[in-house]
Formats: sequence, C-alpha cells, structure tokens
Amino acid sequence: MADARNCNRTILVAGGGITGLSAAVEAAEAGFQVALVEREPYLGGRVARMNKYFPKLCPPQCGLEINFRRIRNNSSIRVMTMSEVEKIEGEAGDFTVAIRVSPRYVNEKCTACGKCSKAATTEIPNTFNAGLSTRRAAYLPHEFAYPLRYVIAPQIIGAPEARAVEAACEYGAVELDMAQKTVEVKAGAIIWATGWEPFDTSAISYYGAGKYRNVVPNVVMERLASANGPTGGVISRRSDGKPVKKIAFVQCAGSRDENNLPYCSGVCCLASLKQASYLLDQDQEASATIFYIDIRAFGRNEAFFDKVRNDDRISLVKGKPGEITENPKTGMVTVQVEDQETGRMLRDEFDLVVLAAGMVPGTARQRVPAEALYDGNGFLLRENTPGIIGAGCVSSPSDVSSCVQDATAAVLRAIQACRR
Ligand SMILES: Cc1cc2nc3c(=O)[nH]c(=O)nc-3n(C[C@H](O)[C@H](O)[C@H](O)COP(=O)(O)OP(=O)(O)OC[C@H]3O[C@@H](n4cnc5c(N)ncnc54)[C@H](O)[C@@H]3O)c2cc1C
Repeated sequence: MADARNCNRTILVAGGGITGLSAAVEAAEAGFQVALVEREPYLGGRVARMNKYFPKLCPPQCGLEINFRRIRNNSSIRVMTMSEVEKIEGEAGDFTVAIRVSPRYVNEKCTACGKCSKAATTEIPNTFNAGLSTRRAAYLPHEFAYPLRYVIAPQIIGAPEARAVEAACEYGAVELDMAQKTVEVKAGAIIWATGWEPFDTSAISYYGAGKYRNVVPNVVMERLASANGPTGGVISRRSDGKPVKKIAFVQCAGSRDENNLPYCSGVCCLASLKQASYLLDQDQEASATIFYIDIRAFGRNEAFFDKVRNDDRISLVKGKPGEITENPKTGMVTVQVEDQETGRMLRDEFDLVVLAAGMVPGTARQRVPAEALYDGNGFLLRENTPGIIGAGCVSSPSDVSSCVQDATAAVLRAIQACRR
C-alpha cells in the first residue's frame, strides 16, 4: 500500500472553465492543495459567456457561483488568473511547473467601483462579447466575474491615460509598474482542462461566415441573446439592428465533414434547439427552422429535445444546405437546401442564420508543454503521460454535466498519481 508520507499533496489544474473549477474544488475538498491556472482574467470559461445552459436553461451564474463560493471558502485553492503554464519538468508525484503570470495592473485592493473605467478613454474590442462591442481600456471582464476585479489593458500602459486611471482609484488598487513574472509550483499531478475553441466557420466559404453580417456562429448567438451582451439581450440583425423574426440554424457547420471536423461535437443540436427557444421566448410571432443531418440528443438531454421540438413555431428540415447568400440591400439571408424527406429543393429567406459550429480542443492550437498524448484531432487523451490527466472538452466534446463528472474522475486519477 502507498505510504501517505510519499504523497505530494498539491494538484495543479490548468484551465478555469467548468471542468477545471470543478476539479479544483473537488481536489481541495479532498484535502489537497490546488493551484488553479487560468489564462483569462476571470474564471468560468465558455459557460460564463452563455445566455443560459441546457437542460434546465439556467443562467451561467447559477452553476458557476456555487463553485466560486466553494473556492472563496477554501484557503487550499490558489487561483492564478491571466496565467499560463510555460514549462513542466519532472514526473508523476514530483512535477515542477513554471507559470507565466501577465500583469493585470490592478491589485486585490480593487473594490470594483468602476472609477478607473470612467477615467479611461481608449476603447478596445470586448472579447467577452466575441468582439461584437468595445469596452474601456480599464474594464471589468463582466459583471459576475470572479475575481471581481478590474483589468487595465496593456495598450494604455505608458500613456498619460494610464496615469489618469491610476489617479481615479481611491483605494491604491492600480499598480502600473506590475510586470510579467514566472512563478514555480511543485505538484504531484496535473489536470489539464483547457477546454475548447469554436470551429472557424469562415473556412466554409459557401456559408458566407465572416462575409455576410447576418450569418453568425452559434457562440455569437449566445452573446446576442445575453442580457449582458452587446444588444442587451435583444436578438437583432447584425446588419441593421432590426429585431429577428425568422431565424435558421445550420447544423454540422464543419462537423462530421472529412474536410473540416470529422467528428460530432455532441452538443450543437441541443445548443441550436436552446437558441431557437431564446428567440421564441422573446417574440411569440417569431419562427425558427433547423436544417440538420440527424438530430443527436443523448441522456437526460433527450427530454429537453422533445420539449423544444413540440413547439410548432420550430420546423426541423432534414438536409444540409448547399449555399447561403445575403441580399446586400435587404440583409435577408437565403438558404438553399434539398429536403431529404421530400426530395424537393428549398430556398427560404431568413433575418439571421446561425451556423452550429463544433468544438476544437484547446490543445489543437496550444499543446501541453510536456510529453503528452493526443488523438488524431488534437484532443488530449485522458489516460496520458503518468501524472498528466486530460479532462473536460479538451479531451472530448461534452456538455457541462459530463464535464463535471469527468472532472471528478480526473481528481481521483490525480490523487492516485500524487502517491508515489
Ligand atoms: C454554442 C454552444 C452552446 C453550448 N451550450 C451548452 C448548454 O446549454 N449546456 C451544456 O451543458 N453545454 C453546452 N455547451 C458545451 C459547454 O460549452 C462545454 O461543456 C463547457 O464549456 C466545457 O467546459 P471546459 O471547462 O471543459 O472548457 P471551457 O469552457 O473552454 O474552459 C476552458 C478554460 O481554460 C482556459 N484556458 C484555455 N487555454 C488555457 C491555457 N493554455 N492556460 C490556462 N488556461 C487556459 C480558458 O480560458 C477557459 O477558461 C455548448 C457548446 C457550444 C459550442
């Protein structure tokens, strides 16, 4: 039996999305020290940017806030935002991890009063809103952010504007001389939970993403529907701001396609059904059409699928659109498709077309800085180099509840790896 004295009691978790957050609190509540390393200035990952999440259609704060409270109440978790793992050396039970921490230029004295933001004049793209809006160069990432602390954008550092921002803070929270640093953490195991990125739908030229303003990917639809999004939650056309009455969803935009993503992301069908309900809840007279290859809804999500599809304002058409075009004068978008059930060619016009894009693992672009194993699509294998454990969407496309379960399983494997 392993001797508890040979157990390194620190677990490093890379990625503070729902998977990493869940893993961090589970590990800490099992008595381990945790270093939670997150690239963004806030925790919550992609879930934080959603309007609501299925199957219960809760707002993201619902699930996230419980975890934030568990983090606040547990001094064993060290949260490192604006941080990335740079180098991993050693082996299971005895890793040395170098973490690069970027400056926030705001320290923990920040009360989130917002006076610094009023003093800033430069506008920068709001990445939380997928670049659909701008924000001041001194900003709170979003109103439910954890930690609830402002960030000063590096663009203004060195300019007189930064001094004005500093002077506006009554609490001595702005620290303009903060610099990038490298921090070393010793850990027995590493849970890698760096999640997913949306597939870039502009790669499918005949769908017009990036060319037509009223053709948007599904992650943008989440922001258009969110009360804290660029339109205050009113789902409107990108071309002229008119409310959307007729919406289409194109499933498998790049997925299950050998030229793009050969796999199914498992959540896009449900995401589109959910997003259709955003519009129909907002406008009783609106309608939605979903163009699909097959609808995939598994586990307890099937009941959600049944509930939404029974709404007669939603039409489900089996067929993969061949072409999408936008009328430059009216902004209306035409979808051309062969209805596979009737064999008829259909052409229909919509105010907005949403492309249901799949998930690409974070590790397709940024690998673990150590020897690690991946599948052919860049997903990090769960069973990996001893002591390095993949979890959540970085290992396979999944919904939130599967990610939470996966996080718990990863913690058990991490605890085992800590015992040498
Ligand atoms: C359009 C759409 C709608 C969806 N709607 C739902 C829904 O309604 N219900 C549902 O259950 N699921 C839904 N999902 C799935 C859901 O988004 C995922 O299950 C969830 O985001 C997975 O969480 P994660 O923590 O694994 O990854 P992420 O949410 O991607 O979190 C990963 C975190 O790691 C950070 N990170 C990345 N790289 C690094 C790095 N190198 N170093 C440090 N940190 C890093 C990121 O900033 C991020 O915070 C939807 C998916 C899509 C595409």
